[in-house]
Amino acid sequence: MSRISRRTFLQSAAGAAVATSVSAQSIAAQGNQTYDYVVAGAGHNSLITAAYLVKAGFSVLVLEGRPTIGGGCKSGEICLPGFQDDWCSSVHSLLMSNPVIRNNELGLLDHGLEYIRPDPVMHIPFLDNTSLTMWTDPARTYKEYAKFSKRDADTFLRLVDELQTFRRDEAQGNATPSLWERRHAMSAYDLTMQTFEDDHVRSFHLAVARFTSEPGGDPYTGRTMFTAIAHQIGGRPIPKGGSGMLSTALGRVIEESGGVILTGMPVAELLIEAGKCSGVVCDDGRQFRARKGVVSTIHIKHLVNMAPQKLWGDEFLQNLELFQPEEGLFAYHMATSAPVEYPLADGGSITPFESTILPFPQRVLRSSYDDARGHINLEDMRLQIVSPSVADATRTPKGFHTVKILGDVPYKLAEELGSWDDVRADVASGVLAYLQRFAPTFTKDKILADVFMSPADLERMNPAFWKGSIHAGDYGPSQSGDSRPVPGWANYRMPIAGLYQTGACTQPGGSISGRPGRNAAAVILADAGMTIAEVVAK
Ligand SMILES: Cc1cc2nc3c(=O)[nH]c(=O)nc-3n(C[C@H](O)[C@H](O)[C@H](O)COP(=O)(O)OP(=O)(O)OC[C@H]3O[C@@H](n4cnc5c(N)ncnc54)[C@H](O)[C@@H]3O)c2cc1C
Repeated sequence: MSRISRRTFLQSAAGAAVATSVSAQSIAAQGNQTYDYVVAGAGHNSLITAAYLVKAGFSVLVLEGRPTIGGGCKSGEICLPGFQDDWCSSVHSLLMSNPVIRNNELGLLDHGLEYIRPDPVMHIPFLDNTSLTMWTDPARTYKEYAKFSKRDADTFLRLVDELQTFRRDEAQGNATPSLWERRHAMSAYDLTMQTFEDDHVRSFHLAVARFTSEPGGDPYTGRTMFTAIAHQIGGRPIPKGGSGMLSTALGRVIEESGGVILTGMPVAELLIEAGKCSGVVCDDGRQFRARKGVVSTIHIKHLVNMAPQKLWGDEFLQNLELFQPEEGLFAYHMATSAPVEYPLADGGSITPFESTILPFPQRVLRSSYDDARGHINLEDMRLQIVSPSVADATRTPKGFHTVKILGDVPYKLAEELGSWDDVRADVASGVLAYLQRFAPTFTKDKILADVFMSPADLERMNPAFWKGSIHAGDYGPSQSGDSRPVPGWANYRMPIAGLYQTGACTQPGGSISGRPGRNAAAVILADAGMTIAEVVAK
């Protein structure tokens, strides 16, 4: 029974009491291992699906392979005790428009989840001692753009309006205007270069565009030029106490409503009976049966090996064979005695919660090539630096901070470089030296402890980050929308009856959006003759 570390989840719930239903021990004692739904994996999406199902009145078991629920939405004392950092995600921008939060459909905002909206929103420093800061007040951001170009500042304000109108039209089901079709089909690079005239402004838009890990030079990445505009509209909200507070709140809701969550339970196999998925088998051989269905957030590339190949069908498997990973990323975590501080042209300085670096626009065109060659390029890097403790005093002891630096590196290194274990320390010091060119006071003595995670480390931490894909796989047109994960199977139902798939492999993809989770819930409930509206009204 040692693998069932239910206590681990309770401990991770920031010390707060969590209502529990049936304990793991009593499940075993009762031999009660059949549920309406078994959910394999506990990322925020599958937890959202589980929460709707349990609120609908179904019995639900969630099995998480790791000691803690949350997947990429998890916090912990990564570098030092008392320093709460986010293992992966920090910012939940995309979740804000999801009815899960917008309408508090699951009651998460009554279960310890609270959002902070940092101001400034974002900062980008440049080597010529200039910088651009995005503030929550668009008029203030306008002045920042205008430092470089009055025309670009006017364009910025116009795009804020245009994006809001586009979103309104889209929500009302109006046809997409041809201008937006063209914009979306372009590359982020071409669209940015065409839309703005100043290289600082262009670098800012392209650096933020890359937060989705999409190669800025590829067709159909034009939409990401608007990511910065979206952040002006919605800000960069972070959960108070850590990104993991979302998963913790979901865990509380599921358990309070009678669902069961077991951690340390990797799922190894799907149980198939009469051609239907009727449950799962865990690594330790324990079986859990599902009367109505199994919901997976296991990476689709792993899931297909958990049931006989013939059940998936050749077409599905051949399509999936072509599913591509994303370009790799590192996460460099630090516990520090000072925030990252950037000098300003007026002689002052700024310590933003989030900053990004891209010294010149053309740099985004190089990451795909480096990734393909397996090269680590520490020159002129694009970085994203997140320091939630600057906006959230609950994360660290007073005066101390956590800093998380993200940047582009390949998952698979060129042979001559050896393995990630061979190069990890050198890459970490290269990244720090580079950041110091922009933030000279952020010296080594400010770093009390650090942990550098390569793309391979990220995959080890969460098998759903397949080949280092932090959004489960590339977002190119061949595997987005109706083609995610496989053309014809984008509706969360899998080719095996009784098996559903959610999470970043399904549309609309990765990030903390909760959309795959809520969409999957809607489909599963529909198959059971119910709607989300009915569940929410209960
Ligand atoms: C360093 C980093 C920074 C990021 N920053 C952001 C950010 O700021 N904002 C943002 O929106 N996104 C960010 N992301 C992306 C985001 O974290 C992911 O896209 C998101 O977590 C995907 O959520 P999910 O619900 O699909 O599942 P995941 O979070 O991937 O969770 C899947 C879960 O399933 C479990 N699992 C997998 N296989 C099995 C199995 N066989 N048996 C049992 N359990 C299994 C895993 O252990 C995991 O807990 C970041 C990612 C990384 C790595």
